[in-house]
Amino acid sequence: MTKYLAKIGLEMHCEMSETNTKVFSAARNSYSESPNTNVRPLDMGFPGTLPVVNKEAVRLSLMASMILNCSQPEYMYFERKNYYYPDMPKNFQITQETKPIPVGIYGKVEFECGDELKTVRVNNIHLEEDAASLDHFYSTSNIDYNRAGVPLLELVTEPDIHSAKEAVAFLEHMRSVYQYAGISEADSKKGQIRCDVNISLMDADKDETDPSNWGTRAEIKNVNSFGGVRDAINYEIERQTEILENGGEVEQETRRWDEESGTTIRMRSKADAIDYKYFVEPNIPKFKISQAWLEEIRATIPELAMDRKNKYINEFGLSSYDAGVIVKEKAISDYYEECVKVGIDAKTAANWVTVNIVGELNKENITINDFFITPSMLKQITDGINDGLLSSKQAKEVFFKAIEEQKEPKNYISKDNAQISDATELTRIITEILDNNPSQIEQYKGGRDNLFDYFVGQVMKNTRGKANPVMTKEILHSELDKR
Ligand code: ADP
Ligand code: MG
Repeated sequence: MTKYLAKIGLEMHCEMSETNTKVFSAARNSYSESPNTNVRPLDMGFPGTLPVVNKEAVRLSLMASMILNCSQPEYMYFERKNYYYPDMPKNFQITQETKPIPVGIYGKVEFECGDELKTVRVNNIHLEEDAASLDHFYSTSNIDYNRAGVPLLELVTEPDIHSAKEAVAFLEHMRSVYQYAGISEADSKKGQIRCDVNISLMDADKDETDPSNWGTRAEIKNVNSFGGVRDAINYEIERQTEILENGGEVEQETRRWDEESGTTIRMRSKADAIDYKYFVEPNIPKFKISQAWLEEIRATIPELAMDRKNKYINEFGLSSYDAGVIVKEKAISDYYEECVKVGIDAKTAANWVTVNIVGELNKENITINDFFITPSMLKQITDGINDGLLSSKQAKEVFFKAIEEQKEPKNYISKDNAQISDATELTRIITEILDNNPSQIEQYKGGRDNLFDYFVGQVMKNTRGKANPVMTKEILHSELDKR
């Protein structure tokens, strides 16, 4: 039986949510509002309207190109991809797809997949416009032009990915890049990330760097969740393996992922591929990208997840695991940085964030931005511990009570429930208890070790649970030894 190696190349589309306006029109770039409220005539394909390139969209896409270690163009222009689709009234999409001069070519990305560091080569990254969106109802379909003309970045990888797990790790890495660089929220729940998955199988014993050893690929269009990418890849590996095992040949075709049945379904064969009749977009002159501008952009690339992770490990002393949990979402990492800034010890803050806070967000299914406890409120709790006003158990109780009653933690921290950590005071209490229990001491000395817990219990009862447990045990031991 032949052993197969999957070769997977991704075309990852990401809406750039962080520009104010659309890529070629002055309509607001925001479509999470009422349908058809952010629309200019250009977005609806009215005759006589002309595109104006959004400089911020170009700047951000060049930044993405740099982060992906691509080369940037000296000149930039666009092209028309001609086809008919009801959500595209112009009957063409402005793009850079057939590589005249995209915003970036031939780069590479390193990303973590479990404990391994993987590399994927980037073929190109290009800027294009999104189409409008259709909402289908029972007997009608509605069109919403808010999405028409939203800037879209398309990243095309070489087929260097080998499994569903790697593909998802790569997508998660890219989502984090887009978020940290301020390019996009990259929220797949909002449909901001969509992928085409190209996948083939080859003989695992052959050299995968030689394209002539690659198998025929299927392209699965428009998968819009990371879970969908994972399942579609696993399904295709199975489907193609079965064909090859039975002596058949995989056909080069375009398929789509059907969420409901958990299968991929054939749309068309490569022979029926659409001819898009690309030509240079005549309404956008070719423009120069100056070296000075490129340098300016490079100098403003923000700190990315990897940089923060290294900082957390090397400067803050966190474990690689905790650092990884914190940087996974930029908003959580921002929250953590704020905790450190307001003066919470870096390791203490990491503990709170990775355990109680992430746990609470998952449980309530909310984001950190909607979380009640701010970093400075968290500091009230950690200060309470440092000042001996709270045990760690009490600190947790205060944390959850504050969330539940939506009140600042300081309302639940007072001198009254402070732990007794004063050695003189504890010694006084313990001495009194021992004086009152001579027969228990005798039995303890006679070998009944478990009476030790009895004494601890008496101290706790006497102090209503406020005695510092570690000190109590220490002092008890030494006082018992003296007797
Ligand atoms: P097309 O011009 O048909 O769109 P490209 O060469 O531009 O094809 O490749 C599109 C995507 O398909 C890229 O992500 C590329 O890495 C991937 N790809 C190309 N050949 C294979 C293959 N044999 N197996 C898997 N993926 C492939
Ligand atoms: Mg494309």
